[in-house]
Amino acid sequence: MISFLDLKRLNERYRETILSATSRVALSGWYILGAEGTAFEQAFARYTGAKHCIGVANGLEALTLTLKAWAFPPDSEVLVASNAYIASLLAVTQAGLRPVLVEPDPRTYNLDPNRLEAAITDRTRAILPVHLYGRCCDMAGIRAVASRYGLKVLEDAAQAHGARYEGQMAGTLGHAAGFSFYPTKNLGALGDAGAITTDDDQLAEQLRYWRNYGSGRKYVNDLPGHNSRLDEMQAAILLGKLDFLDADNARRREIASYYLTRITHPDLVLPPADRLADDCWHLFVVRHPNREAMRAYLLEEGIQTDVHYPIPPHRQQAYAHLAHLSLPVADQLHREVVSLPLNPTLTDEEVEQVVRAINQMPSFA
Ligand SMILES: *Cc1c(COP(=O)(O)O)cnc(C)c1O
Repeated sequence: MISFLDLKRLNERYRETILSATSRVALSGWYILGAEGTAFEQAFARYTGAKHCIGVANGLEALTLTLKAWAFPPDSEVLVASNAYIASLLAVTQAGLRPVLVEPDPRTYNLDPNRLEAAITDRTRAILPVHLYGRCCDMAGIRAVASRYGLKVLEDAAQAHGARYEGQMAGTLGHAAGFSFYPTKNLGALGDAGAITTDDDQLAEQLRYWRNYGSGRKYVNDLPGHNSRLDEMQAAILLGKLDFLDADNARRREIASYYLTRITHPDLVLPPADRLADDCWHLFVVRHPNREAMRAYLLEEGIQTDVHYPIPPHRQQAYAHLAHLSLPVADQLHREVVSLPLNPTLTDEEVEQVVRAINQMPSFA
């Protein structure tokens, strides 16, 4: 059986790094906001090219705290793609703001800059481009609209560690970016973890308060903050694993390139290949008109797949007030998308087995 993603096999590759990080922290006597966290923040800032990195508890908090720190008026609107992961919307609502859903470009699955202007009102304050599946959004188009209307741009880079856009890293393409280090991400912790990157000195300073009870000095609270700190154990593990991120992403690109050139089944729509070397291939998502039949067939062939994501945000009970919206692109994508196994642990033989099974698949259309 080829699993979709075997985290045990993945982390086995970093055994020495992980064991040295965990034992160092376990016996250090210091567990929250210390030297490991600072070292990781500096290393990740250097990696992305951002001036600041602020470690937080998870990716959702990275986005939520940034939106709170910007202190927009209550009920301000934030533009986000209608096929975004639910966390991107939750960040907006948890910051007391309103998500406004904009249909994605059906070719790239990312926010379509040409559709943004029609969604802007006098309450719009920010755009939240999600670099879905590891491909950066069309940031030139998005930034042009943002600067015309004086909007903030918050990248959701939770799937984009090491992805580039016109030579620049995800995390430096807007005013700020939220990263997640959830265990399945391209850079994954052994628990929850996240970070914000930004070049804005004042925002960075504010976020250090926001993540720590709104406090910069013990028992002095200037803001109604969160408890949202990146702990020393996760920071030490991430610091060690960061050294392998580029090599892992290179292997992901190799597999993506193999899939893109070898998969020839006429019923499948493959992901866009035009930025193969810039995308970090967090997921390899294809579309099939009869997704469930395809998944059942592949499972029979010993290949596990996944779906990112089966239900669009406006069809979730949590956002029942958005259910009246007509979002045909999002609806169709959520019906058809299938994620194939793609991660740095896959062997050439396994990748070949996936290609062979798909090309021999009967037509279920
Ligand atoms: C994983 C993810 C998040 C949330 O990250 P957590 O660390 O799980 O809170 C947000 N946005 C996207 C696009 C993600 O993939």
